Amino acid sequence: MKKQAKILLIYTGGTIGMIKDPITNSLKAFNFDQLLSKIPELKLLSHHIETYSFSDPKDSSDFDHTDYIDLAKVIEAHYDAFDGFVVLHGSDTMSYTASAISFMLENLSKPVIFTGSQLPIGDLRTDAKENLITSIQVAGLYNKDKPVIKEVGLYFEYKLYRANRTTKINAEHFEAFESLNYPPLIESGVNLKINKPSLRDVVTKKPLKVHHELDNRVMIIKLFPSLAKETLEHLLETPHIRGIILETFGSGNSKTETWFTNALDQAIKKGIHIVNVTQCSGGSVEMGKYETSEQLKKIGLIDGKDITTEAAIGKLMYMLPKKLEYNVFKTIFETSLRGEMK
Ligand code: ASP
Repeated sequence: MKKQAKILLIYTGGTIGMIKDPITNSLKAFNFDQLLSKIPELKLLSHHIETYSFSDPKDSSDFDHTDYIDLAKVIEAHYDAFDGFVVLHGSDTMSYTASAISFMLENLSKPVIFTGSQLPIGDLRTDAKENLITSIQVAGLYNKDKPVIKEVGLYFEYKLYRANRTTKINAEHFEAFESLNYPPLIESGVNLKINKPSLRDVVTKKPLKVHHELDNRVMIIKLFPSLAKETLEHLLETPHIRGIILETFGSGNSKTETWFTNALDQAIKKGIHIVNVTQCSGGSVEMGKYETSEQLKKIGLIDGKDITTEAAIGKLMYMLPKKLEYNVFKTIFETSLRGEMK
């Protein structure tokens, strides 16, 4: 391990730094310096830690693409001066933010670790301390002067995951995240167990390139068996929409009724990019495996393979400003850019 890794701890909000409002009893964000004073253990780490707090820390349910851009810019501004980054973020939409950030940071060769907690740091039974301390350790892990993690990770409850493979699966358990289609990068027990084969090891000498544009003219449509023709047609005619994640059944299946296929076909012909993502938490889309996905393949739906919805919406927002022709867009979307799909 490199002796004194320089870590930038970025606070965006979330339960980890919240306290109970004595009047309303609901949790709200509080001062970051107070948060640090609650973890004297940080002083025991050999890393040099500096902090950066968003001026208006918030619950992650209030976080959107404009915040992703702000966050990417903070990392960009401090990239050369630090060895690793830890981002404190609410767990509710952490997978969305971390996935989008993974696309925005091209040629990333340093660790960017997202973490948070289910209980505030001041709570007696808090999970915040372990999450934060181990995230800092992971961000400072070096092997022969090279960072071990060179990607955007998400650390929660003893596991470091590739962030763009994660989903929040539990609102109550400390083990709040899952990565069903990709193994953890690190498991933390008495020692940190590094799962070397699953680490992203793209060797690049290219400098970090931060993409500052995201297009939020996107939506997610989750299929359900009784979805009405009028509803789908209405959604597909939403005036400004440029990209849609269609959450399908099982391995990418849907109704085969003509009205359904025609509605999607027309939307694609209008230039709307539609991605087939399974609504199952694990497994992959396999268009053409069943008759019930054959028609989707024919009309040119983009194959989301085993991508999560969170990563798919981030990838869509990241790719739309590039103004690519439909087939080029489709080919690139179907390619793994940051290890987000097989
Ligand atoms: N509502 C909180 C948030 O996402 C929950 C958490 O931090 O875990 O900001």
